[in-house]
Amino acid sequence: MTEPALDPQLARYSFQRKLAEIAAVRGRATELISLYVPPGKLLSDVNGYLRNEYAQSSNIKSRTTRKNVMWAIESLMGRVRAYKEPPPHGVAFFVGSKAVGADKSEAVTYIVEPPEPLNTYLYRCDSTFFLEPLLAMVHEPEVWGLIVLDRAEVTLGLLRGKRIDVLRNRQSLVPSKHGRGGQSAHRFERMIEHAAHEFFVKVAEMAGELFLPRKDELKGVLLGGPGATKEFFFKEGFLHYELQQKVVQPLFDTGYTDEHGLKELVEKATQTLHGLELTEEKRLIQRLLGEIRKADAGLAAYGERDVAHALELGAVDLLLVSDGLRRHLVHLKCPACQHELSRSVSDEELEAGSAVPCPNCGAPALTEVSREDYVESLFRRVVEAGGSARLVSTESEEGEMLLRAFGGVAAILRYPVASLAVPLARRQG
Ligand SMILES: [Zn+2]
Repeated sequence: MTEPALDPQLARYSFQRKLAEIAAVRGRATELISLYVPPGKLLSDVNGYLRNEYAQSSNIKSRTTRKNVMWAIESLMGRVRAYKEPPPHGVAFFVGSKAVGADKSEAVTYIVEPPEPLNTYLYRCDSTFFLEPLLAMVHEPEVWGLIVLDRAEVTLGLLRGKRIDVLRNRQSLVPSKHGRGGQSAHRFERMIEHAAHEFFVKVAEMAGELFLPRKDELKGVLLGGPGATKEFFFKEGFLHYELQQKVVQPLFDTGYTDEHGLKELVEKATQTLHGLELTEEKRLIQRLLGEIRKADAGLAAYGERDVAHALELGAVDLLLVSDGLRRHLVHLKCPACQHELSRSVSDEELEAGSAVPCPNCGAPALTEVSREDYVESLFRRVVEAGGSARLVSTESEEGEMLLRAFGGVAAILRYPVASLAVPLARRQG
């Protein structure tokens, strides 16, 4: 039983969102416990450690703090016992009493299975949760395959976040085109071409060996080198087709084909790729604006209500969501008449809390059944309906516009859907 793989954009968003939520928790005293368990750690050792901490915490002077810390450790022991062994990347627990309002606190528990393996065991009790090991993973987003080559040499490597690993370097046996006397020019030319061909086949073989096993995490392949060899290598399709498809256009000019070449390649590509991503976002928002300008908003919907309506109808082709949105979707139920409804609320509104009367029977307050992150719920719904979603950064003017002018959500539709905001008279006319 495996869950469908989470969209990588959404996985990154959800991870950051969760960390932000945990980071905001404050304890009234040193009573928030962070526990990091790396893969391979014996859980019996962890429980032994916790038992010892529990015994020691009975010495804490303040009665409230002592009670809270002992509760947190007890709760942790229960959480740890629920595992037979640590998950593949390990697991981090955050348990404690969160300060709310004047002098109240509320028990909180967060369990995070990180996107990358944890490498140290850590227990910490403080007035905030300790997040550094996880924060370091937020900006380690992408893995790229790297190739720099000419006819004399090739170097292959991997870019992980900002780290470059050199994996393979090889010199070719292709003779130089110059300085060989004695042989017939034609024959010599053929020999060179043959040797070059063999070399390119070898390069493709190495690339397959190194990159294909990682093809699912590989965001793309960056190909560079001095002169025209890289274009030739690419156009002739030496690479395995699954890698060929991942080669980023344009190819990059570098002066070297060794380790320095890999560094040059990454520097050039970083500028271009960031630019490309922003350009793609701008293009999508421009397309949205183009639709909105048409009569009856063409194939566009924007704002929470209209987008939710279009989603219900299954009319959304591409959902555009701002990564600046900070909202939750809260599912409510009336205790009197069982009427159910969902409400999107900002994080601030959620924190403040307020009673919502039942629109059906007028009962004074609905009960919260569950809540989920608003962006996550949008992604889930659009994927269920067969559409796709794109998280748009607020780095470009267009991305900023999506957040400010359209409430952070808009959609390009499969067919026109009348806006709920437009009066009926105009819709009919
Ligand atoms: Zn009701």
